[in-house]
Amino acid sequence: MSEHSNGKEVLVRVEGLKKYFPITRGVVIQREVGAVKAVDDVSFTVYRGETLGLVGESGCGKSTTGRTILQLYRPTGGNVFFEDVNLATLKGGPLRRMRRRMQMIFQDPYASLNPRMTVGNIIGEPLEVHGVATGKARRERVQELLALVGLNPYFVNRYPHEFSGGQRQRIGVARALALQPDFIVCDEPISALDVSIQAQVVNLLEDLQNKFGLTYLFIAHDLSMVRHISDRVAVMYLGKIVELTDRVELYERPQHPYTVALLSAVPIPDPIADSQRQRIILEGDVPSPANPPPGCNFSTRCWKAIDICFEQDPPFIDIGGGHYCACHLVK
Ligand code: SF4
Repeated sequence: MSEHSNGKEVLVRVEGLKKYFPITRGVVIQREVGAVKAVDDVSFTVYRGETLGLVGESGCGKSTTGRTILQLYRPTGGNVFFEDVNLATLKGGPLRRMRRRMQMIFQDPYASLNPRMTVGNIIGEPLEVHGVATGKARRERVQELLALVGLNPYFVNRYPHEFSGGQRQRIGVARALALQPDFIVCDEPISALDVSIQAQVVNLLEDLQNKFGLTYLFIAHDLSMVRHISDRVAVMYLGKIVELTDRVELYERPQHPYTVALLSAVPIPDPIADSQRQRIILEGDVPSPANPPPGCNFSTRCWKAIDICFEQDPPFIDIGGGHYCACHLVK
């Protein structure tokens, strides 16, 4: 039985997930001299059928989190439960079988599609690799998938360069859907697209979610991009999740100083309200994940920091009603 919380079924449970990339020195004999802590002790759940937005600046570890959940990177520490199966301990055939149920949509539809393969082969490849369909059945399934994402089913023999950016992203979506997954990590799927096309891709993802009961981890670099699509939103900073709650709560009552700063930069449609609110400009750069500061990771840029912030890492706690925050000032 999968864990239930608030009547919702947990599909993915991430516990203390860590992904460190070693830094090595030496030409002949390589020595490990440190580690980039891309994901550093991250815990959260994703409920079946929801969209969890994962937001943060580039380099904060959000893509690495998505890839480590799917075991495209093996974790340095921690566990990832899909239903009740711990993916972090699976290998070989059992892992491959679980992977069918979890897919990824990539940021750059130009780079993620093989330019020498036809659209039919790109979308049909997973069907063949997993022995699901070959020959005529495969072709029919590919055409069905093309229609599902709003593309002409007779485009199977065309190549990626014959499509626009938005259409290429639809091809990426069709490929991700080929094996009828339950869970899709959408890794900045709209960031590389024109603003006019972004809403179309978001609408497509929502339609498909409703149709097939899909669960999404939707990664984006700014809060305005996940506002429409997410049920809950997690904010990430320097390898850690600093705040996680439902969408309305996050946008109306942000608690973590970093979330407050990010939200202050999100444009709001009302020009009067927009001109009256206070913008928080963060000073300095994000520290290197190879050398995070002692104490709170945000302490070097936080305008609210107190002494304890420079010494102790704040725990990530439930501050009420499923609103999680990691800040010494928020109880
Ligand atoms: Fe700022 Fe301290 Fe809270 Fe970190 S723990 S976000 S430094 S107030």
